[in-house]
Order: sequence, then C-alpha cells, then structure tokens
Amino acid sequence: MALALSIESAELLELFLWKKAEDANTEKVKEELADIFSFAFLLAEKYGFDVKEIVLDKIKNNGEKYPVDKSKGTAKKYDEL
Ligand SMILES: [Mg+2]
Repeated sequence: MALALSIESAELLELFLWKKAEDANTEKVKEELADIFSFAFLLAEKYGFDVKEIVLDKIKNNGEKYPVDKSKGTAKKYDEL
C-alpha cells in the first residue's frame, strides 16, 4: 500500500508538470487526491493508527522542532535553525 500511495502521489505531481498550478485540471487533482487519501487511510487502518491522533501528534512535534520565532520565513531544516 505504501507503493500505491507513492505512485498515486506521483500521478498528482504529474498533473502539475510543466504548467502553472492554476492550470492543473482540478477534476483530475480531485481524483488523485481521492486515490491518495484512500491508500493513506487503508495503510493507517492496517497498522491500527488513529488518523486524527497521528496527525495532531505530528503537528505538535513539528511545532516543537520548528518554533515560529526561529523558522518563520526560512526553509531551513530543524537542525539548521
Ligand atoms: Mg490515480
């Protein structure tokens, strides 16, 4: 399922290849996002993860790794801040 998720993500990227983001076909973007969410939720289910819990945990961890006063306006990784 992780492979399928990666492939579907690549299909989403392909919709933006060589064009401005606003020129991507929104119906196809919607379809690829649906594919991505489907595989992501299936993968989470396989491991017994609570999707809301793991997303909130990750947001909390990111907030700790990337404090706003140090990371706002920069693309540096947390170990370079
Ligand atoms: Mg697809």
